[in-house]
Amino acid sequence: MKKLVLAAVLFSVFFLTACARNPATGGYAFNFYSDAQEYQMGEEYHPQLVAQYGEYADQNLHNYVQDIVNRLGDASHRPDLNYRVTLLDTPEINAFAIPGGRVYVCRGLLIYINSEAELAGVMGHEIGHVTAKHSVQQMSKQQGLDFGLLLGALFLAKDSEQNAQNFLDLGGAVSNLAMLSYSREDEMEADRLGLEYAHKAGFSPLGIEQVMKMFERLSGKQSGLSLMLSSHPTSETRSKQARIEVRKLEENQNINRDLERNTYLGKIKNIITGRNPERGVVNNGSFYSAYYQLTFNGGGGKFSLDNGYLMAWQNPQQTVAAQLDLLEMNNNPEKTRTTQTEKSLGTTAHTVAGRNWNNSRGNVYIYLAQAKDGYYQISQYFNIYRGKMLCLTVTEKLSGQQTTLVNFDSALQNLRPLSAAEAEQIKSARLEIYTARAGDTWESLAKTYFPGAEAQKLAWFNGCELTDSLPEKIKLGLF
Ligand SMILES: [Zn+2]
Repeated sequence: MKKLVLAAVLFSVFFLTACARNPATGGYAFNFYSDAQEYQMGEEYHPQLVAQYGEYADQNLHNYVQDIVNRLGDASHRPDLNYRVTLLDTPEINAFAIPGGRVYVCRGLLIYINSEAELAGVMGHEIGHVTAKHSVQQMSKQQGLDFGLLLGALFLAKDSEQNAQNFLDLGGAVSNLAMLSYSREDEMEADRLGLEYAHKAGFSPLGIEQVMKMFERLSGKQSGLSLMLSSHPTSETRSKQARIEVRKLEENQNINRDLERNTYLGKIKNIITGRNPERGVVNNGSFYSAYYQLTFNGGGGKFSLDNGYLMAWQNPQQTVAAQLDLLEMNNNPEKTRTTQTEKSLGTTAHTVAGRNWNNSRGNVYIYLAQAKDGYYQISQYFNIYRGKMLCLTVTEKLSGQQTTLVNFDSALQNLRPLSAAEAEQIKSARLEIYTARAGDTWESLAKTYFPGAEAQKLAWFNGCELTDSLPEKIKLGLF
């Protein structure tokens, strides 16, 4: 009896939530998640995002972007949500939102944007995804099948309360949040909502046209840039729609025509460009991280810094690979090792022997793993940095028929703390804002500051064409 009542209650709760009216679109959407659940999902996912990208620590810039987000949020269809922005410390040209009102903008995008109105357009678009509940609707669709199965299970299973609890546990949904990509229709809808919110909040809607043009240029083959814009189809269609919508708005209402270019450029002056060298930089065959206070001597091997914030390395003979990761404190070494082994050697690999001990270098675990093509020694070194677990994994192919553990890898010995002098030498490249003088041209500036580079790229980077006259303030940088 108790089971049936519980099922009925659950069913009605889900039924009501599932058929709730969408605040932004006015339509009825298929959505299992309440506002409280959205918030909870966002809060669960947020630390993972911050761990992955790192937060860009610039309180003034953060406050400025947060003010813009607050104004947009107040003008939106869900003004009661607490919109909180996080600046991410990555050169990726991207922005995104998660359910519950958390929005993110990457340092790389802030550098490309040329005015407050453009930024308001981008953040308005992201808030549009939140108000129109695009992610939660997608998740609801994905969970639709599971929901049917659960109702069946509730009537049959012995531990139905437990099943219901599992369903309510949002962990599974949260882990999939990053995998979601929006449909073209969702993107167009977010564009329309973003424009509406930006205009209503008093920003110039002309910024949306500008930022669309920027995305169009960046996605062009000529730009030679690699972008992370997969969730945002940058097409002429979107740009065209923005132009049409802005013209429509102009015809019917007074619009703010001031993009606030100089205000914005004043705020992003000195922002770190490119990859933050404090997190890690390769110089003369070694990796240096001022942030994690360590250095790794590659001894002529090859580094890759694309792996999150840290590094991957391979020796010249391609027999030893090392990878530096930052893990949550609650990851247990056993699980981490299994994941790492599978990642580097494939799922057929399994460990056959292992030992671990503490020494002056921190915790070291050494394992023997058997893969399809022979035996590997996997050594893992753990230490605590800034509330996270820093882990160096060294994978070494053992020669011939060797099936026993050798000693510490030399690669493991290559890791040591950074000296104060070394830390001092790590300098960040920062964005310079230049005030144009009489006689300056795009060509002359490119020639002076970026010898050998195309003036076209400098103009585009400043939101202009080569044929446009120079604006008063110019971002000096090329990407
Ligand atoms: Zn979008």
